[in-house]
Amino acid sequence: MTASSSASPRPPGQAPAGRQDCLPGRYAPWVRILAMAAFIYVVAAYLNARVFHLLADADGQPPVWFSQASEYLVIAVFGVWRVIAERDAYTRRRLVFLVAAVMAFWWATPAYLRLPEPYIGALPGAPLLPQLHTPGTLTFFAALLLALLFGRRVICGWNCPCVGIRETVGFAFRDRTPRSGKAWRWRHLKWPFFSLYAGVAAMILIPGVPGVSTAYRVFLGLVALPYFASLLLSPFIGNRAYCRFLCPYGATFGLLNRIGFFQVRLDRERCADCGQCDRVCDMGIPIREQGRAAGKVVSIEECMGCGRCIASCPAKALSFRDARDVLRARTPRDAGLAR
Ligand code: SF4
Ligand code: SF4
Ligand code: SF4
Repeated sequence: MTASSSASPRPPGQAPAGRQDCLPGRYAPWVRILAMAAFIYVVAAYLNARVFHLLADADGQPPVWFSQASEYLVIAVFGVWRVIAERDAYTRRRLVFLVAAVMAFWWATPAYLRLPEPYIGALPGAPLLPQLHTPGTLTFFAALLLALLFGRRVICGWNCPCVGIRETVGFAFRDRTPRSGKAWRWRHLKWPFFSLYAGVAAMILIPGVPGVSTAYRVFLGLVALPYFASLLLSPFIGNRAYCRFLCPYGATFGLLNRIGFFQVRLDRERCADCGQCDRVCDMGIPIREQGRAAGKVVSIEECMGCGRCIASCPAKALSFRDARDVLRARTPRDAGLAR
């Protein structure tokens, strides 16, 4: 038995590759129109809350249904649809967890449970825990540790508010994901964003740096603009374009994928060279080529750990590995000891 086949086969054997995995025109136009309407609603609500303030109460606060909370509303509604429609058991579990985590941890906790929020940094007044996407919070460092041990999937697959809408509403446009060699090269676009993010994070962590508030606002603007633009462009660039090409946080987690314990292994003896894994990967990773050459996905920094390639492989040649597998492999076994 090879190393890859002895790894924990998470997710466990699932249904063979199916129509849903490749999605050649799976959804009727009215579903896509509904999804597009939801995206437009979310973008309009964000602009109302942050820029135009067209709808606001006497205190200047936007109504909850036309504020930044609108994104969570559509995640809940479309999340129910996605969970019911999903045919793969592992992905269904992941979606249930993702939608529940987004609603409970990212929306309800900061909105209704005013907990003391530990904060590391020199920028007063910034949103704190559990705002993961704020450099310098304890949640962020906890996420870094988890990503090191178990891979980027702990956030990008299971618990990211930004991907909640892309995995639910955006799923109607998943078949538009560009998977050409040119699109694969576009992944490098995120590194300038990452550099900016790292620079601003360093400014925040060092007390007394001048211009930190301005730099922080510029950074947030540069993140928000492509974030919402990518929602509206989903019919042309697929649902995961922001994750693939721009997200500076995804780049951070990707670096931890690279130096940490997470792997996607390919058993070359089992692989039937069918290419199904390439067709289902929303990050456009050339899994078959890399896996057959090296026995694993080499560009592991790009893998957000959705598990679709593993669940879809008809030969069950793919598997995840993480810190648990390393620990198990190094734990002495009693069975088989010679007397
Ligand atoms: S790449 Fe960014 S937006 Fe996408 S799931 Fe990861 S952290 Fe969220
Ligand atoms: S790893 Fe599985 S899905 Fe990918 S090419 Fe091999 S047999 Fe096909
Ligand atoms: S390599 Fe597999 S687990 Fe990683 S993003 Fe692609 S389909 Fe998902």
